[in-house]
Amino acid sequence: MKRLPMRVYFDYNATTPLLPEVVEAVAGALREEFGNPSSVHAFGQRAKAALDAARSSVAALLNADPSEIVFTSGGTESDNFAIRGAAEALEAAGRRHLIASAIEHEAVLNTCKALARRGWRTSLLPVDRTGIVDPDRLRAVIDRETAVVSVMHANNEIGTIQPIAELAVIAHEHGALMHTDAVQSVGKIPVDVRALGVDLLSLSAHKFNGPKGAGAVWIRRGTRMLPFMTGGKQERNRRAGTENVPAIVGLGVAARAAAAKLEAEAQRLAALRDRFERAVLERVPDAFVNGAPSPRVPNTSNISFDRVEAESLLIALDLEGVAVSTGSACSSGTLEPSHVLRAMGLPPHRAQSSLRFSFGVYSTEEDVDYVAALLPGLVDKLRRLTRKAAV
Ligand code: PLP
Repeated sequence: MKRLPMRVYFDYNATTPLLPEVVEAVAGALREEFGNPSSVHAFGQRAKAALDAARSSVAALLNADPSEIVFTSGGTESDNFAIRGAAEALEAAGRRHLIASAIEHEAVLNTCKALARRGWRTSLLPVDRTGIVDPDRLRAVIDRETAVVSVMHANNEIGTIQPIAELAVIAHEHGALMHTDAVQSVGKIPVDVRALGVDLLSLSAHKFNGPKGAGAVWIRRGTRMLPFMTGGKQERNRRAGTENVPAIVGLGVAARAAAAKLEAEAQRLAALRDRFERAVLERVPDAFVNGAPSPRVPNTSNISFDRVEAESLLIALDLEGVAVSTGSACSSGTLEPSHVLRAMGLPPHRAQSSLRFSFGVYSTEEDVDYVAALLPGLVDKLRRLTRKAAV
C-alpha cells in the first residue's frame, strides 16, 4: 500500500489552526451566549460579560486598557478603520496627507489608494534591501499636512520588524497619528502599545490560533476617530453592529493562550526556523534567505531558490503534503512577483523564485527535517526541467 505523504502545514502567516480551548470556547458561546450584548436582560448581560472578558484578555496582551479595544471583523477591517477613521477626523484640520511603507499589506495599501482617489496626497516609504524602513525617509516626506503614518510592525512575507517606536516619535513631532498593522506580530512576540508609542494598532485573531472574522483595533484613549460603521451605539459608538460574540470570545481565549506562552514559544519557533534555514542553505545550492535575519518574528522564513519558479515548487511541495506559500498568496491567482520583495530591490528572478515558510504551534523538528530533506531533490528536479525546456 502506498504510504500517504506526511501532512506538514508551514503557512501559519496565512492562517493558523484553532487551539482546542478556542474551539471549546467558541462552541460554548454559540450554544450558551446567544443573547444580544446590547440587551438589558440577563441573556444580553451574559453575552456582554463574555465580550468584556475577551476585551480584558486582548488588552492584557497589548499592555492596553480594555476601554481602548474596539472589536472588528479582522485585520482588514481594523486597518481600514484605523486609517480612514483617523484620516477623516483630521481632515477638517487641513491634514490631507497619508504616509505608509511600500511593503504594507493590501489592506493598508489599497485603503491609501482609495483615499488618494478622493484627493488625499499619499507617500510610500521605501525600504532597504533587508526590508526595513529608514526613519530618515519618514523625516524627508512628513509635513504639517500629514494625518496618519501607517507602518506595519512585522511583515507578513519576510517577518522583518520595523523601528515603530522611532517612527512614532517622528510622526508625533509633526502632529500626525501613528498606526501600526501588528497582525503578524501580535501573539508571536511581545507587543506593548505603550512601548511602541503608537496611537492605533490592528490585530487579527486567526493569525494566532483564534477564529477567522474577529480582530480589534487598539485606539489610544483621547484619539479622535470618525466611526467606521454607522448605526447602533456598540463599541462606544465607534463600530456599529451587533458584535460577533462567539468569534470575539475565541479571540479572547487565543489572546490569553498566546500571552501565557509568548516567550517560550518564540524561542522554540526561532530554534525551529534556524534549524530549517541552516539545513536548506547547506543542502540546496543557490538558495538565499530574504530580509533582515534580525529583528524578525521567530516563525517566518522567506527563501529564494534560484532558477526555480516558486509556484512550481509550491505545487511540488503540496504533492508531498507540505503547505507553504509564495509572496502573492494573499492575492492568489496572480503570478505577479511580490511587491514586498520588489520594494526591497530584489531582481525579478529572485522575487519569482521565493517561498515563504511560516511555522506555528503544531510545527515540530520532525516537520522541519522532513521538508529540509525533500527540498534538495525537488529543487534539483525543477532546475533540470527548466534547463531542458531552455535547450
Ligand atoms: N495585515 C497583515 C500584515 C496581514 O498579514 C493580513 C492577513 O494576511 C491582514 C492585514 C488581513 O487580516 P485579515 O485576514 O484578518 O483580514
